Parts: sequence; structure tokens; C-alpha cells
Amino acid sequence: MNVKIADLEFEPLIAAGDIQTRIKEIAAGLNKDYADKAPVFVGVLNGCFMFMADLMKEITIPCEVAFTKLSSYHGGVSSTRRIRDDFDLMTDITNRHVILIEDIVDTGNTLDYLVAKLSHRKPASITVCTLLLKPDALEYTIEELKHVAFRIPNEFVVGYGLDYMELGRNLNGIYKRVV
Ligand code: 5GP
Repeated sequence: MNVKIADLEFEPLIAAGDIQTRIKEIAAGLNKDYADKAPVFVGVLNGCFMFMADLMKEITIPCEVAFTKLSSYHGGVSSTRRIRDDFDLMTDITNRHVILIEDIVDTGNTLDYLVAKLSHRKPASITVCTLLLKPDALEYTIEELKHVAFRIPNEFVVGYGLDYMELGRNLNGIYKRVV
């Protein structure tokens, strides 16, 4: 069913059940690859909160959970390219295996910035796991981007942590803008 958020209409793109299925698959891979590495999962707020919560419930290996907060959209439907550093990562990641958890990679501008920033802290490794990727919008080569739950068309989406004007984050599936 379509949903109205503020002045825009959205239609279903990815169902809640399909998200949970992909999360289980990705978690199984991470549990295997990081079994003896005690990784630090770093969520990029705000958008990651729902994906990260569901993913972490499927992680069965020893690990830490930490957060940082960046923003680049500021309420609209297209990126401003200006990144605001809202909340720095407080965990010491030197010599640690870091798994960054993102909601969406669009142009890749934000992720490129964050990977470079965290690399200065000399982690043992950085891997990125994102719920969504828009391959047609991607402008950066980010080698660390290894886990993608869903590749989606270059359209504006909301739900499952992602917002439009700070609304819609609570939807349990992903919805795309009706144009
Ligand atoms: P990038 O820097 O990769 O261009 O954009 C990354 C950020 O822009 C994401 O973390 C997210 O906050 C926002 N963003 C990009 N595409 C979308 C979208 O389709 N919907 C929403 N709600 N946010 C988006």
C-alpha cells in the first residue's frame, strides 16, 4: 500500500520479510569471516538504527557495538554534498577490525569521507556493510564496500530507518517516491 509522508507519496519497494531474509544471509557471512576477530560494529546514525538493530540480533560472535553520526541530506530529496560531523566515534579502533554499518550509499561522498577519516586511526581493517546501494549514482570507488543487502534504482527512498523530512523512519519496509 502507498504511504503519504509530508507532501510526497511513496510506494512499496522492498518488503519487511525480504529485508530480514537478507540480514540473516549477511550476518551468517560476517559470523564466519570475523569468528576470531572480535570486530567493532560502527553504526552511522541516524539512518542505520533499524538495520543495525536487526543485524546485531543475528551476530553470534564476540563483538563491540559503537556509533558515529554524520548528516548530508538536511531534509530534502537530493544530497547537498556537505557533510556535517555530528558525533565522533568514541571507541579506540587502533588495530581493531571495523565493520561500518550504513543505511544507504548514494554518490558515496559520505562513505568515502568516513572511511578516510577512520583509516587515520589505524584500524586492522575496515569493511562496509550497507542496507542499500544506488549503483547508478555511485561516483567513488570504495574498496571497503563489501556487503550490500539491496541494489536499488537511483530514486529517493524512505523507511526502515531512512527519512523524508525526519518522517518515515519507523516504516518496516522500504518505499520509493512516486514520480
Ligand atoms: P551520499 O554521500 O552517498 O551521496 O549520500 C549518503 C547519505 O545521503 C545517506 O547516508 C542518507 O542520509 C542520504 N540519502 C541518500 N539517498 C537517500 C535516499 O534515497 N533516501 C534517504 N532518505 N536518504 C538518502
